Amino acid sequence: MGAPNFHSWATVYQVNVLARTVELDCPGRGALPGFLVWLWFCFEAGMTQATSLYRPSLLELAREGNFRAIAYWINSLLAPYGMVVRATASRSGRLNILIDFRQPYPREFYLGLRGQLIQFICYRLWTLNSAAIRDVRIVARMAGEPNVLWQKAVRINTLANTDRPTGRSYLSRTSRSRSSLYGKQRLSWSTFQILRSFLLSRFAIAGFFLCYWLLYWKLSGYPVIEHAQDLPAAAIQTPQTLVASSVNVSLSGNSIIPDLTPGLIRNRPLLNVTIPPAFQGQIVHQVSLTGGEKLIALTFDDGPWPETTEQILDILQQANIRATFFMVGLHVQNHPEIAKKVAEAGHAIGNHTWRHLMQNLDAPTAVEEISNAARLIYEATGVKTQLLRPPGGNLSGELVPHAQQNSYAITLWSADSEDYYVASPLIVDNILRNAQPGGILLLHDGGGNRAATVQALPQIISALQQQGYRFVTIPELMEAKVKNRLTRSFN
Ligand SMILES: [Zn+2]
Repeated sequence: MGAPNFHSWATVYQVNVLARTVELDCPGRGALPGFLVWLWFCFEAGMTQATSLYRPSLLELAREGNFRAIAYWINSLLAPYGMVVRATASRSGRLNILIDFRQPYPREFYLGLRGQLIQFICYRLWTLNSAAIRDVRIVARMAGEPNVLWQKAVRINTLANTDRPTGRSYLSRTSRSRSSLYGKQRLSWSTFQILRSFLLSRFAIAGFFLCYWLLYWKLSGYPVIEHAQDLPAAAIQTPQTLVASSVNVSLSGNSIIPDLTPGLIRNRPLLNVTIPPAFQGQIVHQVSLTGGEKLIALTFDDGPWPETTEQILDILQQANIRATFFMVGLHVQNHPEIAKKVAEAGHAIGNHTWRHLMQNLDAPTAVEEISNAARLIYEATGVKTQLLRPPGGNLSGELVPHAQQNSYAITLWSADSEDYYVASPLIVDNILRNAQPGGILLLHDGGGNRAATVQALPQIISALQQQGYRFVTIPELMEAKVKNRLTRSFN
């Protein structure tokens, strides 16, 4: 990969920060923090905006005593006549205006201009009404000649500079810091201007994002509390039934490693996702394989999701590999047909809770989150699963202990693609950097715009396959470990 230029990366990064905060991936906890992140973002954006909005004009700079601005301004008036003007400050605080005559007119011509030029420059400086300009020395010479043609010191009395206590100009003192150059009035005016553009831009941006956020909230179909009333009371009150029955399902697969003959994956019957007893109730980040096989597991969270889940299914089918999908109950409820497609394609399904709440849950909520998701997944796909991935990988609260008691394997990950956050080249990079045998790769097929994940996936698959990796589901990865251990102890 060639090195991308910084600007495009910065943009990509910003856009992804935007995307992430807009998505509010996990609304239960995400609502307020997400909003606060937004506010902070708006604040930052406003800062940038405000500083770029307020640009003092050339005349304002000249009025502050900025020499370059003064020279530029007078030059713009005199250049057509073949003169180049430079402005500097002398130590005594006097403004020096040096005029170089560059046109090949006779010396007498420029001598004759003296009165007119002095008048012209003094008048212009007087119109500036600058507190910083008082004593001015105008020097004229032929360009390239060391001798001065003529010079004149003048005092420019304006309203702005006459009421200063000392007669001395404070050009040299003030030219160092711009803000102190303003008179009292100018200072408050410019402060007001900056403050105004600052606040205006901030309110505008904050308002825009607030609308966006509300709209997204409305349209994304994320949990609304009324859903709770839709569910039959039995599902909430007797959560144990489903979980218990899923534990009873025996290991059905004889062949642990999938048959990789093309076309076979689609024909597989619906599989219950069961795992070896050694992994039940365990927290799994990765599986250490001692047999030297390079097995690795792709996992996709937060689906099923319109478009992206099916795009990912297509990519997986083309590559003829199986993955594990951790589904959110509510999303299964919204898109049961997509969930069914995932199961029918032979992929493993995991429980990613009912509403994807990321905060620490109390016991009743934990029961509800696991059992409702299990029920919705079962209704849509006929699959009972023993895999649970806590939203955000949060191991605190009652969710994980409850799942462990019910023999779920708490399935985390060893490589985070950060696909909820970065663009596809970085997704590929994150995965390839952290891939290792027995690893569990975290990606997302739902919960927001996952175009970057879809874009990155083929590259991830082919790169890892080139490195000799074979893709398996989480249960297959666990089975491989157990089988591995058995063959070793029998040998
Ligand atoms: Zn998630």
